[in-house]
Amino acid sequence: MEKTFAIIKPDAVERNLIGKILERIESAGFRIVAMKRTLLTKENAEGFYAVHKERPFFGELTDSMSTGPVVLLVLEKENAISAWRDLMGATNPKDAAPGTIRKDFAIDLGRNSAHGSDAPETAAFEISYFFNQLEIIS
Ligand code: UDP
Ligand code: MG
Repeated sequence: MEKTFAIIKPDAVERNLIGKILERIESAGFRIVAMKRTLLTKENAEGFYAVHKERPFFGELTDSMSTGPVVLLVLEKENAISAWRDLMGATNPKDAAPGTIRKDFAIDLGRNSAHGSDAPETAAFEISYFFNQLEIIS
């Protein structure tokens, strides 16, 4: 069993899409092993997205991630990292395949409704950035 880290981003929480997204996650066979709804500070978002700090969209990204509540999730499944990225769809909703979360719910590249880890090392970092071991119950 592999774990990955997911965020339901502020644009989706704002539009009351938490339930619809969790329903897709569970229907796809993931187990939600940790979950919390919270508001990220700008500093939280900057630390989380530190890998992108030299990118031109860093300021906008960390602003948008701290504009409203998010839902933070740890998901467990076989090959969870790639399975969750497949379920989310391409980063830009314009390129996302039919039936994916980003195709069906995202507004644009900056408001693309969901985050997912991209590799085992980033999943480990991202999970531990927001959850301690006692909060993750398999
Ligand atoms: N993003 C953006 N402009 C870009 C590229 C990315 O606003 O040109 C945002 C987008 O919301 C994306 C996030 O930054 O989800 C992180 O980018 P990454 O390339 O890691 O995409 P992801 O892993 O989220 O698919
Ligand atoms: Mg990424």
